Amino acid sequence: MMEPCKISIVVPCYNEEGNIHYLHDRIIAALAGHEAYELILVDDGSSDRTLATIVALAERNDKVKYFSFSRNFGHQNALKAGFDHASGDCVISMDADLQHPPELIGAMLDKWREGYDIVYTVRDDSHDTHLFKKITSSFFYRFINSCANLNLAQGGADFRLLDRAVVDELKRINESVLFYRGLFGWLGFRQYGISYVPNERFSGATKYSLRRMVAFALAGITSFSVKPLHFATLAGFALSGLATLYALYALYVYFFTDTAVAGWTSVLASVLFIGGFQLIILGIIGEYIGKMFIEVKRRPHYIVKETNMGTASGRCAGTRWIR
Ligand code: UDP
Ligand code: MG
Repeated sequence: MMEPCKISIVVPCYNEEGNIHYLHDRIIAALAGHEAYELILVDDGSSDRTLATIVALAERNDKVKYFSFSRNFGHQNALKAGFDHASGDCVISMDADLQHPPELIGAMLDKWREGYDIVYTVRDDSHDTHLFKKITSSFFYRFINSCANLNLAQGGADFRLLDRAVVDELKRINESVLFYRGLFGWLGFRQYGISYVPNERFSGATKYSLRRMVAFALAGITSFSVKPLHFATLAGFALSGLATLYALYALYVYFFTDTAVAGWTSVLASVLFIGGFQLIILGIIGEYIGKMFIEVKRRPHYIVKETNMGTASGRCAGTRWIR
């Protein structure tokens, strides 16, 4: 007889009041009578009635667990809270807006039972989603993969199943700026990808504005590679080389011709160009220094304000236990 295994489902929720009940029902349906599960809803500092909705749900179904953050800490940190406290033999993370179809859970579990440690999903973008999102997302992945030493699949999302062994490894990773999508490639393990067609967001609006996506891309790049710093060095060498050639040319003009001081324009152009370039490179270096600054502070990833779940981790200072 097969042992009953516990499934944890982790869902970050930021202003998702209109989605939670429907999400819950769809997940229950997808679990098809499987009794050993927990649904961990992480309220990432929502300003609408997300928390009240979750609390009401938890009263009806004691398998619903929740955390509510003291403010908005971001999607990746909400995922971390879920991973830190999930007790299942496998943990599935998904979005609250039903773009990740809960019906895929069955197929993910099948692959897990076959022996895969990570079952990730790849969004099939071919027919739907907004053109803007499509272009930015394609740019996002190409840019990150070329800047960082990564090979992220385009259309990869935070919709995946992780075996307990993977979650335990993940919990040991405590860098301040989390970028889970990149971490899974780095972690290794046996992985399997399933593709799916995303649904439209059920209710509410996307939380990823262009600005947040750019910040997310920068986090991804600087978390995984020092390649941009190599670029700075290479560009420095190239520019010094060009400057040397130009100096030789200037000396030649000075000694062997009589067309003397005519070079004002070119001097100005090169000074401006090199100045701009130095600023870019300082910016790159600054990104990394800023990152070290954040990293050395070792602040907790999130602060839990309210929960119905005990915690094994000592990092949630200031927690008020509800039950
Ligand atoms: N989310 C979150 N904190 C945030 C932003 C988003 O917990 O600061 C959650 C959000 O509630 C959703 C998931 O992360 O469950 C993905 O967000 P969204 O659907 O807005 O992103 P998109 O699908 O547009 O990329
Ligand atoms: Mg979404």
